[in-house]
Amino acid sequence: MTDVADRAAAGFEREFGGSPAGRWAAPGRVNLIGEHTDYNDGFVLPFALPLRTVAAAQPQAGPRWTVWSELSGETIDFGADEVAEPGRVTDWGAYVAGVVWALREAGHDVPGARLAIASDVPLGAGLSSSAALEAAVLTALVDLGGLDLPAERQPRLAQRAENAYVGAPTGIMDQSAAIRCRDGHALFLDCRTEEVEHIPFDLHAAGLAMLVVDSRAPHRHADGEYAARRRSCEAAAERLGVRALRDVGVDQLDAALARLDDPETRRRARHVVTEDQRVLDTVALLRAGRTREIGPLLTASHVSMRDDFEITVPEIDTAVEAALGAGALGARMTGGGFGGCVLALVGADAADAVADAVTTAYADKGFQAPTHVTVLPAAGAARLD
Ligand code: ADP
Ligand code: MG
Repeated sequence: MTDVADRAAAGFEREFGGSPAGRWAAPGRVNLIGEHTDYNDGFVLPFALPLRTVAAAQPQAGPRWTVWSELSGETIDFGADEVAEPGRVTDWGAYVAGVVWALREAGHDVPGARLAIASDVPLGAGLSSSAALEAAVLTALVDLGGLDLPAERQPRLAQRAENAYVGAPTGIMDQSAAIRCRDGHALFLDCRTEEVEHIPFDLHAAGLAMLVVDSRAPHRHADGEYAARRRSCEAAAERLGVRALRDVGVDQLDAALARLDDPETRRRARHVVTEDQRVLDTVALLRAGRTREIGPLLTASHVSMRDDFEITVPEIDTAVEAALGAGALGARMTGGGFGGCVLALVGADAADAVADAVTTAYADKGFQAPTHVTVLPAAGAARLD
């Protein structure tokens, strides 16, 4: 398949005629570690993937936005009325209209534009194609309009587009990763303060690679289970008299658990408190250049999600076990759970053997064959030309 940036430019020329004024790319992401910590005011550590969404864009007399996506092959068109309030533009167009809406809500004079979108980020696989789309469109509009919106303020705005216009209650991680990640680094994000720090994560230099396996497991009951986990965490925080579980340190964990009567709530709280600490420990190892040593933390995170937070499914556990059995240094489910992807940290030359082991284990259990890709940490949203 041709390069995604070329496909965006070709789509632009075919749909709109002429060349775009520029192309803007934004990546999908995976979370290295820190699961279900975001809504507990805690820590996450995503990194950007070399899979990107590209918007080729050109200003047009406004307020008017005309958008083509390779994905559906359709072109949608909307004006000021449709972005006056959420709900008017639906389906995939809502992510684009949401960005325009959020910019206008924040008082920006958004330029009218023609946009052609192409993407290599798979949809709904937990790699955040939605934030990649928002970030590509947002950075294009900010540049085209010369808007005064520095990168550190962009994630919140893209999140608002998704929360309020699309109606998906996501945290700040996906948009932060799509916009702020750096090549060869992971993004250490404090979900309470929204402060970020770029942590060196040079897999290549360490002779390592990250295998991302799409479990292909159907997302069974994911929404209801997610809401239930949030409620358990809030109940635990309230019982413990803290603003959020982030305020309980691992050194206080035993005392805190002793105050929770319900065994299920105890398990949920234990996951969140220990997971926050695993993020901090991972950051410390990466800062010290001890990249290989993060493997056991990844695996411990998986065990905690499986046994304490209870958000894994048989396909996911099978992939993790098979990867570890084939020599992965660590492996874990990434994302909200009940499906999605598995990360396996592997020696650069072991990626194929580990992927084969996962495929074989899946076949033995009669699961639908998984897909995989080997990735290195990539850059966040940027103008290409
Ligand atoms: P994820 O973000 O994990 O991939 P979501 O359900 O949050 O899954 O977002 C997927 C939705 O985002 C798609 O159903 C589609 O509406 C929209 N989307 C993402 N990428 C594109 C694209 N390149 N073109 C059109 N719509 C897209
Ligand atoms: Mg999404």
